[in-house]
Amino acid sequence: MERTLSIVKPDGVRKNILGEVIRRFQEAGIRVAAIKMIQLSKAEAEGFYAVHRERPFFGSLVDFMSSGPCVVMVLEGDGVIRRNRELMGATNPADAAPGTIRKDFAGNIEQNAVHGSDAPETAAFEISYFFNALEIH
Ligand code: ATP
Ligand code: MG
Repeated sequence: MERTLSIVKPDGVRKNILGEVIRRFQEAGIRVAAIKMIQLSKAEAEGFYAVHRERPFFGSLVDFMSSGPCVVMVLEGDGVIRRNRELMGATNPADAAPGTIRKDFAGNIEQNAVHGSDAPETAAFEISYFFNALEIH
């Protein structure tokens, strides 16, 4: 059984789409194994997105990710890393397929409503960034 990290980003929390996002996961047979609402500090957002630190959008991304509370979740299911990415849609909502979370709710390429781990190694790092073993059920 695979696990992945999902985040409803600050824009998604502000738009009040948390329930709809979870509904889509559950409708797809994906189980929520851990969940909490947190507001990242700038340093915490920098650590989470450290792979992007050389990118031109990094400073703006960190400001956005620390601009308000987000909801972090561990999702569990067969092939959940890929299946969550399919439910999310492309990074840029303009390129996202119809019916995906980003097509339906994202404002732009930065404020794109949700995050999902992209591989088993990143999922392991990202889950451990937010949750300890006792918090995952
Ligand atoms: P995420 O990692 O958040 O699930 P992703 O894997 O689809 O998204 P990445 O390439 O990992 O996309 O980029 C991480 C995040 O950085 C994006 O989700 C978005 O918030 C922001 N981002 C990516 N590209 C740009 C860009 N060109 N301009 C502004 N922000 C961007
Ligand atoms: Mg990514």
